[in-house]
Amino acid sequence: MTEVTKTLCPYCGVGCGLEVSPPAQPGKATHRDSQGNPIWRVRGDKAHPSSQGMVCVKGATIAESLDKNRLHYPMVRDSLDQKFRRVSWDEAFDLITKRIQTVRFTQGPEAICMYGSGQFQTEDYYIAQKLLKGCLGSNNFDANSRLCMSSAVAGYIQSFGADGPPCCYEDLELTDCAFLIGTNTAECHPIVFNRLEKYHKKNRKVKMIVVDPRRTPTAEAADLHLAIRPGTDIDLLNGIAHLLMRWNYIDVGFIDDCTSNFPAYAEVIRHYSPEIVADRCGIDVKDLETAARYWGESQRVLSLWSMGVNQSSEGTAKVRTIINLHLMTGQIGKPGAGPFSLTGQPNAMGGREAGGLAHLLPGYRLVKNPQHRAEVEEVWGLKRGQISPNPGLTAWDMITGLEDGTVGLLWIAATNPAVSMPDLERTKAALMRSPFTIYQDAYYPTETATYAHVLLPAAQWSEKTGVMTNSERTVTLCPAFRRPPGEAKADWEIFAEIGRRLGFVGEFAFANSAEVYAEFVKLTRDRPCDMTGLSHEQLRSQGPTQWPHPAEEMGRTGDGEKEDGEMGRTGDGEINFTPPLHHKSPSTTSSKRLYTNLRFHTPDGRARFGAYHSRGLAEPPDPDYPFVLTTGRLYGHWHTLTRTGRIEKTRQMHPEPFIEIHPRDAARLEITDNQLVEVRSRRSKTFFPAKITKAIAPGTVFVPMHWGALWADNAEANALTHPESCPDSLQPELKACAVQLIPVTAG
Ligand code: SF4
Repeated sequence: MTEVTKTLCPYCGVGCGLEVSPPAQPGKATHRDSQGNPIWRVRGDKAHPSSQGMVCVKGATIAESLDKNRLHYPMVRDSLDQKFRRVSWDEAFDLITKRIQTVRFTQGPEAICMYGSGQFQTEDYYIAQKLLKGCLGSNNFDANSRLCMSSAVAGYIQSFGADGPPCCYEDLELTDCAFLIGTNTAECHPIVFNRLEKYHKKNRKVKMIVVDPRRTPTAEAADLHLAIRPGTDIDLLNGIAHLLMRWNYIDVGFIDDCTSNFPAYAEVIRHYSPEIVADRCGIDVKDLETAARYWGESQRVLSLWSMGVNQSSEGTAKVRTIINLHLMTGQIGKPGAGPFSLTGQPNAMGGREAGGLAHLLPGYRLVKNPQHRAEVEEVWGLKRGQISPNPGLTAWDMITGLEDGTVGLLWIAATNPAVSMPDLERTKAALMRSPFTIYQDAYYPTETATYAHVLLPAAQWSEKTGVMTNSERTVTLCPAFRRPPGEAKADWEIFAEIGRRLGFVGEFAFANSAEVYAEFVKLTRDRPCDMTGLSHEQLRSQGPTQWPHPAEEMGRTGDGEKEDGEMGRTGDGEINFTPPLHHKSPSTTSSKRLYTNLRFHTPDGRARFGAYHSRGLAEPPDPDYPFVLTTGRLYGHWHTLTRTGRIEKTRQMHPEPFIEIHPRDAARLEITDNQLVEVRSRRSKTFFPAKITKAIAPGTVFVPMHWGALWADNAEANALTHPESCPDSLQPELKACAVQLIPVTAG
């Protein structure tokens, strides 16, 4: 193959377009890795609307990871103390099918669980839902997105009646005020940040506010950095709302016409005077007032957030409290404005569309909703009532299910929970007890493979054709451009074969992933994420496309013309196809609302205010554990190092884990730079070299989460964290726990 393949970066939710060419091109030198192996050439795709040719170091070096430490063949063992032995696919499928039948018969379908990943393509997600939730009758499919953005999903659903970020990346370049809370965008979503930073530098009137306990590279670029105490986000947000109300910056017309529950919210924010809020958050009253003025005086305010908000025991309340600010000031439904959650993984959005969490069904449907279940059953050709009405086990529920013996079979795919779950000692002990664990992944070894009875080699990005959706709802086809190594197969093909062997032959009679996608989009008809106008063929010929994209879109627009800012209007001025909440690029430069009467997906069409007081951290510091540990990610690394740990450049950028400590705390504990520090929480202890820096506030320490047992001894951040979760989103509070620090002295 000699042509260039257009695809999407398979790392983060920014979803940058890539152009990939074969290692050797006539007349050009072949790129080689440190072992001399030829590597594929990767560059940014200038035509991709989301990234416009830009890539960060992870995207630029992705090709170097493709052939390293790959799992080539199915392997099995009877118990965890045995070595794996290679088997054929036929033997592996046979073993898994029999085991599923046994567990189903002896313990019931609810004893079968699958834990998937935002690394899946949409087709993988979809077939997994059909197998588990449809054919097997178990809603126990959850994904690592539960640890990443399930609070954003719950917040959007509760406030707007439907999930889905309503904004686009183009809003980054149209806003007057960017409000970034709980997101180190510069390191974790670098190309989103590049777009915002360029625009901010060129337009000095544009304000950037960053809320983060750390002075991150993102905070460095801000006009105002609010280094709040961990866990005081709701105090801060309610405090800003209090001032907006006091200074009459609220949009009464919007509140009256388009929202509900404002009186309850107004009653809550009444209690958040600037003095009280500044004291709780550990910031100056003046800075709080400046933040409120920036909000109030701006024509267009765009909020961005990610795991710093979502990974919290009150994550949904935090998300809704951000949304409240937009609703009270009418900062939504217009270019450059809106509440925009950034997804962590490349296809976490596709997972939401395909129903890839334990409480969801395809097409932004809910397991609990009888009509939603009936609609899915009809498309899947199931008997009425075949889909269980009970939401399935979430990621952490699966761990406790292993502990109490209610989980009889755990199937993990494309994720590494033995590094990314909270309370790792407990997680690993539970995995040790699993009666039967299937681990399906592209890479080997990984920390989680240690706990598997069956290993299945998965084809990854570049080796299978499928679709991914990025944070701004842009859908991109990612074609296969190389052969999978050994006998690796696409995830959806593995799930479909098991389905057929379980007797669901017609349900899984797909010849290719294009057919899978064609069936999936039927389930999006007339849903907020309607993409019935998309197919592999259409995406191949038209390129990346934002949803909503209904099949009738072109027909319905009649003359096909789109006036400035009037997307989706026909000649007579009627809005007739695009749900107004999810606006699309290209937008207008006008600061007016795109639609005069913005309707939401709630029964009364109004967005709901959520009225929340702050509950604070689930595990606040105390005299025994006086520091708050917060965790996060580094620019060059991705999740649990399965890829970036094997790429020379990214490994050299961040060779080892560390703990950031403020100089005042370090001096008091007599810790010097680079000295080894024992970090203890109520669950475990770890060791990190100290990095003494004013970037972290006194009383708080920071550790990156990437390193697992395979890469560093006793330096796993999540050995320290706890599983206390948000009651609405069931997302664990991975961002904060209480710890003590003990300097390690020689001898
Ligand atoms: Fe890939 Fe994200 Fe970097 Fe873009 S910003 S190149 S999607 S890792």
